Amino acid sequence: MSSFDQTCAGFCGELLRHEPMSRHTSLKVGGPADLYAVPKDLEDLQLLVNWLDTNQVPRMVVGGGYNLLVRDGGIRGAVISLERLNSIEALDNGCIKAWSGAENLQVVRFGQQLGLGGIGFISGIPGTIGGAVRMNAGAYGNGLLDHADSLCLLRHGSVQEGHRSQIKYGYRRLELQPGDIILAATLQLEPTDPAVTEEEIRKDLELRRTKHNVGYPSAGSFFKNPPDQAAWRLIDAAGMRGQTVGGAQMAELHSNFLINRGSATATDCLELAQKVKQAVLGTSGIQLEEEVRIVGEEL
Ligand SMILES: Cc1cc2nc3c(=O)[nH]c(=O)nc-3n(C[C@H](O)[C@H](O)[C@H](O)COP(=O)(O)OP(=O)(O)OC[C@H]3O[C@@H](n4cnc5c(N)ncnc54)[C@H](O)[C@@H]3O)c2cc1C
Repeated sequence: MSSFDQTCAGFCGELLRHEPMSRHTSLKVGGPADLYAVPKDLEDLQLLVNWLDTNQVPRMVVGGGYNLLVRDGGIRGAVISLERLNSIEALDNGCIKAWSGAENLQVVRFGQQLGLGGIGFISGIPGTIGGAVRMNAGAYGNGLLDHADSLCLLRHGSVQEGHRSQIKYGYRRLELQPGDIILAATLQLEPTDPAVTEEEIRKDLELRRTKHNVGYPSAGSFFKNPPDQAAWRLIDAAGMRGQTVGGAQMAELHSNFLINRGSATATDCLELAQKVKQAVLGTSGIQLEEEVRIVGEEL
């Protein structure tokens, strides 16, 4: 990796070494990434990915880090942030193209200005379009990918457009090939009075202020809801609301939010998650599955 500067000539973006991932994740835990790269534009990203792949350096993409738990040993290889690929474009037929680094609320506001809507449910979901597409982020029974007309991917070094008929997804899930990078999503919106969108945004942000205001760093809901079940109810029934391991706790306000009370390590978070899974399995027979993506190495 030390040869990066000499060899990846032409890379114009920002490059950080041994960058603590606790700075880039909402849970604020996690060890360092060997390299943390922020390409300037698409060409810069392609140059970087090509160099990393040729040199067999592992890589992953991060969005806002709102659904990510990085282990304490950090990430070997490169973490790529697409925060500078963040433009949003108006297309024909009620479509907009949002690049991965654009923030969800910005995208809703962009549509609103054109008199388009239908995706107000992502207003208060923290993060970027790349992360929201990867996770099929959603709320109130909606998922973002229901509104995707096509996805633009960087696959095997080339930019490819995948039409909606080729997108395979489900609850908090999108099927991708290993190494795929989501560059942008073309979203099909509906004609909507801007005042209606404004009310959707207001309601969503207000609801989150009351229900999600856990007062400490978190990654939102830690576990997926099993079919026809609410994870928080199962966690409550297992007596795990408020339980702690080290500095990690299942929040009193929302028992499916795992919070960092200030001094938590990733190991604390993972041990607590394991305890919750065992307790829920014991009381309900249901195996909870993490919604939060867990990456990196142990110390
Ligand atoms: C307070 C709070 C409330 C939340 N409420 C909700 C909610 O209501 N509904 C919901 O669905 N989620 C919710 N979340 C979780 C989180 O906001 C979403 O999952 C969000 O979509 C993550 O976006 P991100 O940009 O932060 O992605 P990240 O967390 O950075 O990444 C998530 C995953 O996507 C991958 N990824 C990111 N960008 C790309 C890309 N361009 N190409 C390929 N892979 C990529 C990452 O490698 C990682 O595996 C909440 C989180 C918090 C903290």
